[in-house]
Amino acid sequence: MFFAVVIALSAGLQLSGKADVLGLVFPLPEVDAAYQRGFRSDAMAKVNRIRVPLGVEAVRGDESIQGMLNRLVEEHPSPEDVDLDFVFERVQREFPGAQYLAANLVTAPSRESLLTNLTQWTASANSDFNTINTAVFTSGRRYGALAVMSRRIPRFTLREANERGGKFFNECPHCQETHALELERESRTLILSCPYCDLPFDVLALDTRGMVRRASDFFENFELIEPGKLRKSASPEERILAMWQRVADRCDYQLDHHRSSKREVWKMPSETWNEKAGDCEDTSLLLADALISAGFEARVAIGWNGNIGQHAWVVVRVDDRQYIIETTLQDEISQDNLAPVAEASSFYQPEQLFDRGHLYYTTSDEEEFAQDYFSPELWESIPVPSESIEYSLR
Ligand SMILES: [Zn+2]
Repeated sequence: MFFAVVIALSAGLQLSGKADVLGLVFPLPEVDAAYQRGFRSDAMAKVNRIRVPLGVEAVRGDESIQGMLNRLVEEHPSPEDVDLDFVFERVQREFPGAQYLAANLVTAPSRESLLTNLTQWTASANSDFNTINTAVFTSGRRYGALAVMSRRIPRFTLREANERGGKFFNECPHCQETHALELERESRTLILSCPYCDLPFDVLALDTRGMVRRASDFFENFELIEPGKLRKSASPEERILAMWQRVADRCDYQLDHHRSSKREVWKMPSETWNEKAGDCEDTSLLLADALISAGFEARVAIGWNGNIGQHAWVVVRVDDRQYIIETTLQDEISQDNLAPVAEASSFYQPEQLFDRGHLYYTTSDEEEFAQDYFSPELWESIPVPSESIEYSLR
């Protein structure tokens, strides 16, 4: 039914060792703030003289990173021994968007040869970077410079991903590690997992307008008006069956690619209702939304079905009873179709669940989690980020 694609880029780090040039000994002037500014400005000009003729974006300074480098060099007892891994860690901790980084430590007998060394650095012509910052120090009779080239990418938001695309950084809600991510417009349902802890942290899908949304944002408080007497006198199971029957009667089962292109899209519940057709996740969303509006506790499950493969279905809880609802059924719906989760667990293997406010994932044993879709011990929840509220298309 749909494909899961995980896209996560690990940070593009480049380490350069120390380069050194032996030479004559000159008396060294004091390296003050004006000297630092002048040196960086000269380094930038030299580097851009290489980049611009190659058609590579010119570099500029990044004042915040520059300030950090100055402090780092000032505080270090012997800056010529600074560990570049330590520099990376510090830059990325303070600037999580600095996912593209190169650092270099050079020493030379003169300011001129220091600048020359920097321009011979392979990173200087690399289009991954768009800033350069340098912190000069003196070491004995020699000059040294700690140089960092970087490109900062913005924090991931769906709004920005939809508006501009490109690469973003994101903090994993589970392990708090920062990773880079990029959404491919051509991709279908996206289950985003952290490259460090492997846990899923978001489920995204394309809507019918080609916008990427979070799974939970497809809910829209859709209501199926129930006849008053049903609402008052029927059992919860009878009410669930009546709503399910209405969805089954109205909506034909229709695979996406019969509809338009090959791209997998999810419909809003009102779209499925109005178009009278949908595939498994469309009708699952519609029925789950209607059940929640009617006061039931319901979730959409995405996962694996033994007969179908990748699939989506609804799970609903009534007191301590949980049922699987197969919304692709087109027949007369009876009590027999309302399968208790334990009985259906060999056919229905959920991987992620979601409702209006949360995404749920599990790290438990599959013998257990398919028997209980609502247990907080088996299913951990991630709240949907608040940007979703303002992101609503309605
Ligand atoms: Zn993680």
